[in-house]
Amino acid sequence: MDHATTTAAPLSLEGPPPTIPARKRYRPPKAKFLADQSRQLDPISGCPDLQVPHDHAARFVLELVEQLDLKVLVKKYSALGRHGFHPKHVLGVLILGSVQGLHYASKLAKATKTDAAYRLVSGGRAISDSTIKKFRAENLAFFQDAVQQTVAMAVERGLIDPTTLAIDSARIQADASVKSMRTLERSKKRLEELTKEDVAALDEEAHAEHAAKVEKHETAVARCEAEGRTSHSVTDPHAGLLKFPSGAALPGHRVTVTSAGSDLRFVVNVLINATPNDFGMLEVTARGAHEALIKAGMLVREGAPRMQTAADPGYLSETDLTFAFENRDWLDVLIHEPEVQRRKGVDGAALFGRDAFTIAEDGTATCPAGLKMKGPYKNGDNRLWHGDGCVKCGLRERCTTSKKRALTQNPRLDKVRGHMHSRMAEPGAKARYNQRIATVEPVFSYIEDAMGFRRVSSRHTECLKAEILLKILAYNLMRLKAAKPVSACLISVVVTDDTAHIIDVCLPS
Ligand code: SF4
Repeated sequence: MDHATTTAAPLSLEGPPPTIPARKRYRPPKAKFLADQSRQLDPISGCPDLQVPHDHAARFVLELVEQLDLKVLVKKYSALGRHGFHPKHVLGVLILGSVQGLHYASKLAKATKTDAAYRLVSGGRAISDSTIKKFRAENLAFFQDAVQQTVAMAVERGLIDPTTLAIDSARIQADASVKSMRTLERSKKRLEELTKEDVAALDEEAHAEHAAKVEKHETAVARCEAEGRTSHSVTDPHAGLLKFPSGAALPGHRVTVTSAGSDLRFVVNVLINATPNDFGMLEVTARGAHEALIKAGMLVREGAPRMQTAADPGYLSETDLTFAFENRDWLDVLIHEPEVQRRKGVDGAALFGRDAFTIAEDGTATCPAGLKMKGPYKNGDNRLWHGDGCVKCGLRERCTTSKKRALTQNPRLDKVRGHMHSRMAEPGAKARYNQRIATVEPVFSYIEDAMGFRRVSSRHTECLKAEILLKILAYNLMRLKAAKPVSACLISVVVTDDTAHIIDVCLPS
């Protein structure tokens, strides 16, 4: 087959430059949404705007959602194809549901058909449960940002004082059964028991059952060790076995909150994990709160006050106290250590405490009888001493219930603990610490009792986190509504015959 040979004309640099037609500036198409019908009169259901009273929570929710920056959500919608529900309507339904204790998407979907308040918030549209679920599951990043936006709003209105923070955590039940939980301790124990069994004596069926059990516990141990956890659930990867206030050990999620002010109780930072206790959580929580306040424009100017936070004795671990000690230039932590109940002797009287012993700098320890103790011996991070001559000692009944008294000390823990004791002994520290309960506990009581949110409805990590953050967002929005900051002050002077009365009238914003 012949191919015609073509030669390109040489490019000439002489002559006028070719004219390039001006291109139209590209404008991304604007997302389109279903029109708001909440003010239309429906012949059967009526007009939601006329039906809902003016002081109903639905109207607050609408007003508050309008104040949030929803650009990130709007961007996700297309100008092509079917018009969707405006994100402010779906978010409004979720927030109103959170405030009123409707947490399941199916119930919210029903309410948008039958309840005038939900119809008002949804723009007069019936939103399906799958749309609500999808919105909640896909927007974890938005919920995180929205909580931050509420912090910025509170800072802008002068509602947050960084010296009035408090930290605490609560447990929210996971959407998992107790049967789905595996604990490292129990699986190790079961593996030991199973290896002792005489497998050769088992019939075929029992042998298969034994092998399945071994595999189950080996997998549990491997997973717990790989993830550095003490327990995990086979159905919910995020859940852990937590001890609830009722005393029951259930699958759950730990929600650690930093809130500000005993009057406003505004949530500044949230941490969601599944640790069995609060030990070691101070650093990540305090840094998160500090970052949130800086992002909101607080603590950045020169001479700004040090962030101050109060925490309960659950944060009295060596890690937490060391963090508080090493970061005292920007963070003032207050933790009150309750008096430890001393062990009792045979006569019911309390035994000698640590303060009855003397530990010298050279490492020698002297007991209450004035005798030098044996040691120190190394015991992990601790130093250990034993009483010498306890058997014949006249003080033995007041000192120990065993043959000889043991004394342990962790020098690093003692140093940071001593620093916390001195901080708590400073004037005003105890009074400030006593505001801790009023600052953080009502956050949990509002979410668990007023909102009725005690259990998440999803097993997917992103989705359950979004669900918890949604409750915090709803809580913060309600607190913003409840707060009435002074925005202006009119000062008027009334002059009577011989006196002048100054009357100042403060207007809430
Ligand atoms: S019981 Fe032992 S440690 Fe205690 S005071 Fe007597 S000698 Fe010392």
